Amino acid sequence: MSADEALDEAVILTQALLRIPSVTPDAGEAVAHLQGWLEAKGFRCARPDRNGVPNLFARYGEGRPAFAFNGHLDVVPPGGGWTRDPWGAELEGGRLYGRGAADMKSGVAAFAVAAARFLAATPDFGGSILLTITGDEEGPSVDGTPAILDWMAAQGERPDHCLVGEPTCPARMGEMMKIGRRGSVTFALTARGAQGHAAYPHRARNPIPPLMKLLDRLASEPLDAGTAHFEPSTLSIVTVDVGNPADNVIPAEARAKLNIRFNDAHTADSLHKRIEAAAAEIFPPTGVDLELTRRVSGVSFVTEPGPFTALIRDSVEAATGLRPELSTSGGTSDARYMQAVCPTAEFGLVGATLHKADEWVEAAHVVQLAEIYQAILERYFQSFRAAS
Ligand SMILES: [Zn+2]
Repeated sequence: MSADEALDEAVILTQALLRIPSVTPDAGEAVAHLQGWLEAKGFRCARPDRNGVPNLFARYGEGRPAFAFNGHLDVVPPGGGWTRDPWGAELEGGRLYGRGAADMKSGVAAFAVAAARFLAATPDFGGSILLTITGDEEGPSVDGTPAILDWMAAQGERPDHCLVGEPTCPARMGEMMKIGRRGSVTFALTARGAQGHAAYPHRARNPIPPLMKLLDRLASEPLDAGTAHFEPSTLSIVTVDVGNPADNVIPAEARAKLNIRFNDAHTADSLHKRIEAAAAEIFPPTGVDLELTRRVSGVSFVTEPGPFTALIRDSVEAATGLRPELSTSGGTSDARYMQAVCPTAEFGLVGATLHKADEWVEAAHVVQLAEIYQAILERYFQSFRAAS
């Protein structure tokens, strides 16, 4: 831990944010702190809060292109097992500890500081920098980034490109960025037959065998072999419920749930049809009915590699010596909303401790991330300004 890191503005701002508890969606105080910091740097801020969720939109500049950063200041609850104060922002041995250190107050602080430094060095850059920050990414994520985007659309605000500051590196700084994400959908299956005595099964219609047969078939057949930018889709049976307390009764109903993480070879609709088609071969002869419902948590998307992703890779490689892999792995993030508006990529810190006890990041990485984000802004407004 060098004295320089402790004095770096990105580390200082991260610490200030870490010291404000902001368990989702109660991030109002953290959002207000960042708003004050940005306004002092010359950003014009608006607060498109919705249904109690604090949101922040900050703009600098009027021209095109408009480069947007996206991030969140809410965090998951600390949970047990901490040996540090989750809200203490302790700096020790080069590590910065706190809930949100990795996911993702450091990322937000790094892009805020990077933007402020870029503007101080290049006030006449000609474009616009937009910061979109929410207090609800870890929760339902309904009144967070979607609310900011709704407000932006109503104002005629449109970003040309977006970089999300989520922690994307598994272990080493610079090794991975994300250009897409798999989708996630959960299907609920309810098989309904007719109850009866276990000694007289011909007088009942047992819903369990066709449901088991269907689940086995769905789990046994690969959904795909992967696509250009994605790993194969996966299907997990996450619960099977009958809840029958009697061993001499055939139950009337059996339920199960499947979670599917799907790539760009599928949509929630196509998966729904796939399950219906398999069920149509199994259920009709049994006289058992199947009800199928679904809840979509995120669609799959990919930003095709091109000049924008190359610019980010080049900037990361110049700083870290590692050329980041273009990945589509992991769970969902607010990139799923931003990508509907403009080409979107994600790059940030090492996320090894996110959502864990004693969450920490290397303070030196926070400093480096701000430098990388600043370099991305410099390259972006040099190369995309002429093209816009
Ligand atoms: Zn996050």
